[in-house]
Amino acid sequence: MSYSNEFRVKSGTKLNLAKIDPNYHGGFENEESVVDELTKYSQRLEELQAVMYAENKHALLVVLQAMDGGGKDGTIYHVMSAMNPQGCNVVSFKVPTTEELAHDFLWRIHKQIPRKGQITVFNRSHYEDVLVVRVHNLVPEDVWSKRYNEINAFEHALTNAGITIIKFFLHIDKDEQLRRFRDRLNDSGKQWKISESDYGEREYWDDYQQAYMDALSKCSFNYSPWYIIPANHKWFRNLAVSQILVETLEGLKMKYPEPSVDLEAIRKLYHAEVMETSGMEAVELMKAVENQEPKQSKKKSKKKKKK
Ligand code: ADP
Repeated sequence: MSYSNEFRVKSGTKLNLAKIDPNYHGGFENEESVVDELTKYSQRLEELQAVMYAENKHALLVVLQAMDGGGKDGTIYHVMSAMNPQGCNVVSFKVPTTEELAHDFLWRIHKQIPRKGQITVFNRSHYEDVLVVRVHNLVPEDVWSKRYNEINAFEHALTNAGITIIKFFLHIDKDEQLRRFRDRLNDSGKQWKISESDYGEREYWDDYQQAYMDALSKCSFNYSPWYIIPANHKWFRNLAVSQILVETLEGLKMKYPEPSVDLEAIRKLYHAEVMETSGMEAVELMKAVENQEPKQSKKKSKKKKKK
């Protein structure tokens, strides 16, 4: 099953999130049944990232968006744990600072776009500027409504510059969100995440869903697709995201660069000689040891006699 096809938002289609089942888990029964697949994808991701880093030609931007409690942190933990920290990073976008607000909304985003060879994961993104900003009227409608086209033009320019973009919306339902908030209450390791405003935002659930539907349908293209990931089951979410990442990276047909030196010459010049020398040295050493041993024991025995 290719989740890239199944979950991709087709360009220009009208979306209805209420009709997309967040409980969907493919043909899999439970977490145990995906362990092998997940391991396989993690290993493949590690390999692909290593090639991307070495080839230094492509870059990957992964955008993660979700309602509060939607599992962005868990997804990042799962996906990033397969990667070499040297070639990847995570950027979280919070409420903009005064400095950021004094610039256009893409200013803080552009600075964080990955360089060639790198993978960057956005935990929230420029899409907040057509989500929370729209829901709470932080700017007038005639400002945020122009941003879809501005985002499309921006992402198009990035892909022309060799950056591959994939965007995941982790789709949970309102009951699952409340369950996750309750779990936080009962888990001392997660209590720090509790924010009263997250509960307050639940009142705007429908407005957010509408804002997401617009953003996802207006800004999904072959060059920067949105994927809607059924995310009530964390294990299925990890599986689908990993598979799509692997498929996307494999599609780049990356390869390790050709060595810039003559390998045979290097082998002969440095390694064959070293091996021969050390081999000869070893033989000489052994002979020397063989010849020495009896002398030493004689000396010792003489000394013993003297005593
Ligand atoms: P998270 O929920 O991602 O773990 P926080 O609890 O710190 O992290 O929330 C970050 C907050 O920043 C969210 O409420 C989000 O809506 C807000 N935010 C992000 N980008 C913007 C933006 N451009 N304008 C206004 N608020 C934003």
